[in-house]
Amino acid sequence: MLKLGHEGQDIHCMCVDTYFAMIHYGLQVYLTSTDGDCMAALIDLHCHSNVSDGMLTPTELVRHAASRGLRVLALTDHDDVGGLSEARSAASEHGITLINGVEISVTWHGRTLHIVGLRIDPEFSPLAQGLEGIRQGRLVRAEGMAASLEKVGIKGSLEGAQRFATQGIISRTHFARFLMEKGLASDMRKVFKKYLVKGKPGYYEHRWASLEDAVAWIRGSGGVAVIAHPGRYDLGRSTMMLLLNEFRALGGTGIEVITGSHSFPQFQEFAEISRQYSLHASQGSDYHGPGLSYMDMGILPELPSDCVPVWHDWPEVEAL
Ligand code: AMP
Ligand code: MN
Ligand code: MN
Ligand code: MN
Repeated sequence: MLKLGHEGQDIHCMCVDTYFAMIHYGLQVYLTSTDGDCMAALIDLHCHSNVSDGMLTPTELVRHAASRGLRVLALTDHDDVGGLSEARSAASEHGITLINGVEISVTWHGRTLHIVGLRIDPEFSPLAQGLEGIRQGRLVRAEGMAASLEKVGIKGSLEGAQRFATQGIISRTHFARFLMEKGLASDMRKVFKKYLVKGKPGYYEHRWASLEDAVAWIRGSGGVAVIAHPGRYDLGRSTMMLLLNEFRALGGTGIEVITGSHSFPQFQEFAEISRQYSLHASQGSDYHGPGLSYMDMGILPELPSDCVPVWHDWPEVEAL
């Protein structure tokens, strides 16, 4: 039995939608067990700095994690590991254990998937070169996106997006910020829906890394490959099974169960899948900074106790 607390008051409520709505509107909500222990997880293995499409510098992000009470943090910028050394220095100042991470963009059977690498070696050259290739591809895609936005009368979007993307990769989020600045949409959700998803003027088809390469780079560097937010891909049962089997055959060993992108029923669904497929379970907010993410750090519940966590054999986490 769970209960929700808000500003010192207990709200006996099991309604998931209410829980997410409260978070959405910026209310501080904590999950507690009925005996009063705080159940919010102290480990967050998925978040973004401004090296990719987050709002905060790596230092600010780590400071925020510390202020939310986290003990272990993986920085997992999209296709870029450029923030890790700064994050590591900040983490040592704040008593946080930093895990080297990355979130790799993948094209699998014509769909875009994200694969998180944890405990990677950012200097492993096939990984570093592979990520460099993806970043080059992002520039080509950005030019294509700008050209197609120009066709509907929106000029200067490449330069506009680049003004927000000064530290690393260029992404759709940077285009979104430019489009919002122009007053073309009032929030992120709307700007994606109107301009940046398949079939809309700013969408430009792109081929990312293969699943095989992404898993091989991560594993080759000593890391663990994890399927990011599987509930977001809308794959259907048989395609999901195909992905899970293929991913495992390639040497992937983890799956996100508790993520800011999943609903409560999906926590259960993917906990079950992690057990069935013997994949280790991961958890992370996918925090992108103030204004860019509905899910703050330090809010999500812990993994179900019958999942094997992805950190089960990590000495730096066991030591805590
Ligand atoms: P990209 O990798 O350049 O295609 O950008 C993908 C990023 O855009 C994701 O990591 C999210 O941060 C963000 N994103 C994707 N879809 C949406 C959406 N519907 N609303 C807000 N942000 C989104
Ligand atoms: Mn993102
Ligand atoms: Mn993602
Ligand atoms: Mn992410």
